[in-house]
Parts: sequence; C-alpha cells; structure tokens
Amino acid sequence: MNAQIRQTAANEWEIPRGFVPGMRVPGRFFLSKNLAETLEDGALTQLANVATLPGIIRCSLGMPDIHWGYGFPIGGVGAFDAETGVISPGGVGFDINCGVRMITTPLHVSDIPDMPGLIEDLFTAVPTGVGSKSPCRLSQQDLTGMLENGAKHAVMMGYGTERDILRCEENGAMDGAQPEHVSKKARQRGIPQCGTLGSGNHFLEIQTVDKIEDQETADLFGVTEGQICVMIHCGSRGLGHQVCTDHLQILEQAVHTYGIELPDRQLACAPLSSPEGEAYFGAMAASANYAWANRQIITHIVRELFVKKFRIEYEEMPLVYDVAHNVAKWEEHDVNGVRQNVCVHRKGATRAFGPGRRELPHEFQGCGQPVIIPGSMGTPSYLLAGTKGAMEKTFGSTCHGSGRVQSRSSAKKSQTGEEVARALLAQGIVVRAPNQAAIAEEAPEVYKSSSEVVRTVHDAGISRIIARLRPLGVIKG
Ligand code: 5GP
Ligand code: MN
Ligand code: MN
Repeated sequence: MNAQIRQTAANEWEIPRGFVPGMRVPGRFFLSKNLAETLEDGALTQLANVATLPGIIRCSLGMPDIHWGYGFPIGGVGAFDAETGVISPGGVGFDINCGVRMITTPLHVSDIPDMPGLIEDLFTAVPTGVGSKSPCRLSQQDLTGMLENGAKHAVMMGYGTERDILRCEENGAMDGAQPEHVSKKARQRGIPQCGTLGSGNHFLEIQTVDKIEDQETADLFGVTEGQICVMIHCGSRGLGHQVCTDHLQILEQAVHTYGIELPDRQLACAPLSSPEGEAYFGAMAASANYAWANRQIITHIVRELFVKKFRIEYEEMPLVYDVAHNVAKWEEHDVNGVRQNVCVHRKGATRAFGPGRRELPHEFQGCGQPVIIPGSMGTPSYLLAGTKGAMEKTFGSTCHGSGRVQSRSSAKKSQTGEEVARALLAQGIVVRAPNQAAIAEEAPEVYKSSSEVVRTVHDAGISRIIARLRPLGVIKG
C-alpha cells in the first residue's frame, strides 16, 4: 500500500488531503489485506481526484471492487451538496443505470436435466451481442413512455406485473427524467435495442441458491436453499452511451463557463443547479428509466420461456429486486447531524439502504433492501441486505460486483474462449456467447474473488450477506 495511505480500521483506509493537490475532503476505501494488493495506482489517484470536485461532502469513497474507470474509479461513490456541488457523467459511467435484477423460480436443479438445452433456448430468445436487435417494435411514443416511466411503461405494455415495479429501486422510474435532453441520435440507438442484453460483461445467468447465511431475511426476500434463480445484468445500451457522450461534450464546455479546476478532464462536470447540470441529470434519469424498461422486457422473455418449457406459472417467478449500479440520485442523508438532500453518484456501486428508509417496500422496512452482487461466470454471486452502517459510512452504498483485475486484451492472451468454456463445463457450468473472444475476456480469473469482496463489505458493516448463489448456466453478451 502507498506510504501516504493510512489504515483506519480492519478493512478501511484513508487517503489524506494533499495526496493530490486541491483535495477538499479525504478519500476513504474498503479493502481487505488480500484485496489491498489488487489496488491499482491509477484507481487510487482517481479516488483522490474525485475529492477535489466542488461541493463534495465528507469524503470520496471506494468500494472493495474498485478499479480504474472513466473519471471516477469503478466502485466509486461521491455525494454532493445541492447548492455548491456538481454532477459528473464520469461519476455515473457510460452505461447509465447498468444494473442487476434477480428472479426466483419454483424449480430445483433436478428440474433442469438439460441445462445446455435451456441455455440455448434462452440464447435464442434474448437478443445478445453488440448490435443485437429488439424483440419488440417500439414506437417513438413508447420510447418516450419508457424514458419517462421506465419499468412502469414496460409493464403497461404487458411485459410484467404491477408487483415487479414495487421490487425495483425507485419503483423502476426515477423522478426528474427529461426526454427532451435525450438527442435524436440516442433515441435512434434506443428504439431497436430495447429488450436486448448487449455485449461484454452483461449476462443472463441461471443460478442455484447454495447457502443461506440469514434465514429470516432470506424468507423475507423469498429465496430458499436449492432454488433456481435467474440473474440479469444489463443497462441502457446504445441510448445511455450516446447520452453520456453527448453531455460530456456539453459539460467539458461548462467546466470553462463555471471556472471549475479539474485534475482530470474525464471529471467534466457542472454545478447541479446550472442549466447544463440539470440537462445532464434529466437525460441521465431518462436513460436510467430506459434501462429499467430494458431489464423488465428481458425478464418477461425469460418468464415466458420458463412458463412454456417447465409448465410453471408466470407469477411463480417473482422479482426479488432490481438494483442500479451506475447512477446519480437525489437522496436524503445525515450530514453533520443535519438531514440534507444530496446528489449521490454511484459508479459501479450499489445502493444499500438499511432498515427504515421510506424508499423501501414495507416488507423490507425491518431488514434493509436486497443488494445483488454478481461474482463471475465461474464464481458465486451473492444476495446481501442494506444496513444502518452503510447509511452512516457510505451514503447507503456498497460494492457492485467483484471488480476486474485483468484487462480484456490481456485476458484474451492468457486463455482462449474454448479453454475457458471447457474449464467451466468441467465444473458443471454451461456458457454460451455470440463469440469465443467474449468468453475469454470474461473468464472468472479476470475478476477479484467475489467471496473476498463480499466478505469485506460484510465485515465493514456496509451490507450483510444473506445468501450465496452458484452459477449453472450463463449467456454472455
Ligand atoms: P460491471 O457492471 O462493472 O461491468 O460488472 C459488474 C460485475 O459483474 C463484475 O464486477 C463481475 O463481478 C460480475 N460479472 C461479470 N460477468 C459475470 C457473469 O458472467 N456472471 C456473474 N454472476 N457475474 C459476472
Ligand atoms: Mn454493470
Ligand atoms: Mn453495463
């Protein structure tokens, strides 16, 4: 660990002000001793750079899945004051509202004797890959409906149930969406891609619950040992990417307009209260809503296939929860003992609201929200719950995955896709992707240990482990 970094608790570290010039607050991050070895200098500097941004409150934060990203590190969290603070696309990411959801099924492992067959059917039903095309014909009005009302609009179109909406963060639609700030080009990319998985890290995975650590909360979440679950990871596709690109250009200008000094151009931002900042927020919220609609449509496709294939009811596959892990949101938090509305950026970080937050459905008021943390296609994923500790330490945030440690290009050099798929099959995991390179780039070895990352947030008290899920079959985008 860099000599200037101070350890403040078992898994907690502090970057002092002065680590980079202009830091307004310290940086804090969560890493176990083992994970500390994976910390890249670049990500550390990025975390310190975030601490220089105007109006940042308390500290810039890094979760244990931290690694280098555009502007903010991935695994980065920053909360900003409503009056003096800024909003930055680098704190949200290109894939606006990339997120994860999980549905349960009444099935057990023995109910799926032909996993390769199921994976093949899912691969055919869910459009996958870079330019994959939508299974639904979206009109311009429907696109606007999705930008404004997210998953609610998808459910209105017949893709899901009213209950699904209650089980999405923000009820599947953020307030403050302004479709008028989504460019024509972004809309053009959005129309044919709605209901598609996309490429690379995005996935649809069949899993089984192989260990429950907190039975009482697992019951509330509706998960039981041995059950088959489906996890879906995707975001706002080309639409969100285009919105990010468009607004970065505007915000790079705004940096000069408002005389903001930045240590890194990738942190382009504007005051939250400025027209440029508000326009980005409106377009970002609209893209987030599109992503919720997207995950909702994919969920519907999966359920229809399961209904046909396994003769179960649509309603027997309820949504446990849907979390966003690339987003900026207005939330109330305690700042120096005062309740304040602040803009929390989560870039590769998950909301982990603890008990009693009014944003949560009533059934989770006592236990905190479900937090879904994917591992990799060869390692466990986890279901956690939000905690009071997260409210106190991290503005109600935790990690979003295990976090990459090896670049895509280097991964492709060390193993071929065929080799990775064969090794996974030997462990009983079926993988299907549009091409072999996609599999090599996403080999389990490119990620940190999910168990270690999750153990770190659990021990730090910023979320608690409820259940472990083992992968059985994966579709990679
Ligand atoms: P990101 O949104 O940063 O691209 O990825 C989120 C996390 O998903 C990664 O940090 C990694 O832990 C996890 N992940 C990537 N691919 C897979 C997969 O195929 N299956 C599962 N269960 N997790 C994955
Ligand atoms: Mn993601
Ligand atoms: Mn994504």
